[in-house]
Amino acid sequence: DGGKRPDYLAGLNPEQTDAVETLEGPVLVLAGAGTGKTRVLTTRIAHILNTGRAFPSQILAVTFTNKAAREMKERIALLVGGAVEGMPWLGTFHSIGVKLLRRHGELVGLRSDFTILDTDDVVRLIKQLIQAEGLDDKRWPAKQFAGMIDTWKNKGLGPADIPEGDARAFANGRGRDLYFAYQNRLTTLNACDFGDLLMHPIAIFRKNPDLLKEYHGRFRYILVDEYQDTNTAQYMWLRLLAQRAKGEPQNVCCVGDDDQSIYGWRGAEVDNILRFEKDFPGAKVIKLERNYRSTEHILGAAAHLIAHNEGRLGKTLFTDRSDPDDIKVQVHASWDSEEEARAIGEEIEQLQRSKHLLNDMAILVRASFQMREFEDRFVTLGLNYRVIGGPRFYERLEIRDAMAYFRLVAQASDDLAFERIINTPKRGLGDTTVRALHDYARARDIPMLAAAADIIETDELKPKARKALFDVIQSFRRWQELLENTPHTELAEQILEESGYTDMWKNDKSAEAPGRLENLKELIRSMESFVSMRGFLEHVSLVMDAETNENLDAVSIMTLHSAKGLEFDTVFLPGWEEGLFPHQRSLDESGRAGLEEERRLAYVGITRAKHRCHIWFVSNRRIHGLWQSTLPSRFLDELPETHVEVAEMEQSYGGYGRGGYGQSRFDKAEPFANSYSTPGWKRAQANKTDATRDNWGTRSGHAVERIGYGESGPKGRTIDGE
Ligand code: ATP
Ligand code: MG
Repeated sequence: DGGKRPDYLAGLNPEQTDAVETLEGPVLVLAGAGTGKTRVLTTRIAHILNTGRAFPSQILAVTFTNKAAREMKERIALLVGGAVEGMPWLGTFHSIGVKLLRRHGELVGLRSDFTILDTDDVVRLIKQLIQAEGLDDKRWPAKQFAGMIDTWKNKGLGPADIPEGDARAFANGRGRDLYFAYQNRLTTLNACDFGDLLMHPIAIFRKNPDLLKEYHGRFRYILVDEYQDTNTAQYMWLRLLAQRAKGEPQNVCCVGDDDQSIYGWRGAEVDNILRFEKDFPGAKVIKLERNYRSTEHILGAAAHLIAHNEGRLGKTLFTDRSDPDDIKVQVHASWDSEEEARAIGEEIEQLQRSKHLLNDMAILVRASFQMREFEDRFVTLGLNYRVIGGPRFYERLEIRDAMAYFRLVAQASDDLAFERIINTPKRGLGDTTVRALHDYARARDIPMLAAAADIIETDELKPKARKALFDVIQSFRRWQELLENTPHTELAEQILEESGYTDMWKNDKSAEAPGRLENLKELIRSMESFVSMRGFLEHVSLVMDAETNENLDAVSIMTLHSAKGLEFDTVFLPGWEEGLFPHQRSLDESGRAGLEEERRLAYVGITRAKHRCHIWFVSNRRIHGLWQSTLPSRFLDELPETHVEVAEMEQSYGGYGRGGYGQSRFDKAEPFANSYSTPGWKRAQANKTDATRDNWGTRSGHAVERIGYGESGPKGRTIDGE
């Protein structure tokens, strides 16, 4: 290049520089967490632009979330001095797919104003098709089929690609026909689903070589972040765009870390890393080994842990960031999750007192139900927090539904609550009935529940609706009578059972249903610390009122899955217990592979931390209304003693006055106290019995939430974070 090296190259190490400057030909950057993979991609784009090799519109760059795409755009602008106007092809696989489809949808029969269906719409549509085929939609649930279609599409399989005798065939072998019918129906509706955002462009490019050639000409540089989590369809899409005829430039650069592949359950294929070198012969493979993010202790702990996985490509990691003041990874124990939230809250307040920003702290949980306790605690403490990658606990669909029941029992004039649940679960009280009730109530200026009680005495409603409404009203009367004298948690459980609400989710075949049931249990659990139903309802309205201003200094709470690619000064990792982490469901469903994916998740968690990493486990969780002792996660055993310190008992335990617990419960801590003395979790590990492990495991497969699904409710799936 001759002249002075641009500033943005100055700080890079030789391998990073190589990755940034090797612009011609395929490049694979395979490197551990925090080694600057994302930074390399960003700098590479800046370098391409700065040296005039391509216009912004000639670069195709794929990130894992829309948020990551926005951040990358901002950084590039900084690096090149803000002169970049737009980067139209920087985004997630899905958002880029939408753009391609808006342009060329007619080639698969879509007009450019096609709509993208959410999961709810998809399920409704499939249900219609199932019924139209004369099939029993109870025996063949639409949600289950929607899940199957999603899986097929992740694998790049259209209806024609499903083998006739596919063992997973749905509806006595009619699954393939239904899949065809579904796609036809979508075309008629001028609509597509999420999977189509990849499938359609693949089909378009395959059928129209000239068009594909045009895009080969356009995309002079292709870059992909978080490559280890691409699924088969994404890889097919990428290969179509990146693989060029002999002699043509093939400038594709993928960066990833096999140790951070955590979306296997959603179809991600870590083998895509191995395929890269095969499909792009002569690819230059660059390894980055210096970690710029974390202290030696954090890195040492993470590296030692992940070394327990067998299926690894293997790599070295080192850091220069070693300082005698650096603290080791801290392992803390608490009696139960309330205590855990209390202790973490305390730790956060202490950091805050020594001038640390809340923005630099994160709590990363394995299962989203764990968030509830922290949210409650932070509201009590007045600590700002934000939940990333999903709704806050009390905003979740199933929680809102359940709360609507409770509100209506406590406050018969709560019409919003009434309308929310009068036909949830379905009771044949549809829009017509609700409208009739509405009119009746308004005309007389009475609440809808009262109107309902009146209207069943008239013949305004059809007999069936009248009967259904009669039953509901009877139930509410009964619950209202119980309100004063039944313990409120008991009543709450009774309401959810008798109303059919719990059953609704038990019968639901969708992937998110188990998580919703788990959240409902957590809701009941959360009521225990209140003396009455009303007290609890009041508390929740306060929590819901808490601010979530983007600009506020706030602690982040998210699942480990959504923490990918991020970094924080201080990271809290609660709930490291067998059954929760590693998650029993992963172990049950995927055995050894499941365990290894859980371990990668632990690795992702620890490596998010720059300076401080606090791991927590509790010795008791309340499951199904019973206190059950839990075992420290085997992952704790896999941490090296040189980099880990077991926090003093007082720190996590002593100073908190035991909150609402009486001495009797503390007595039960005996086994805990036993297992605690250093080396802490090791002793407990030795005591582990199968009986305790069963606490999580064998509850009809619905025990613990399937992470990642069900975070946001049916409408919550957006183009972000595919
Ligand atoms: P992950 O695997 O978690 O996605 P990554 O490999 O993408 O990590 P980055 O996020 O790009 O790593 O970088 C980690 C941190 O190290 C960032 O704060 C980044 O700015 C910093 N960093 C990377 N390279 C350098 C460097 N050469 N000099 C100084 N800081 C660097
Ligand atoms: Mg990264």
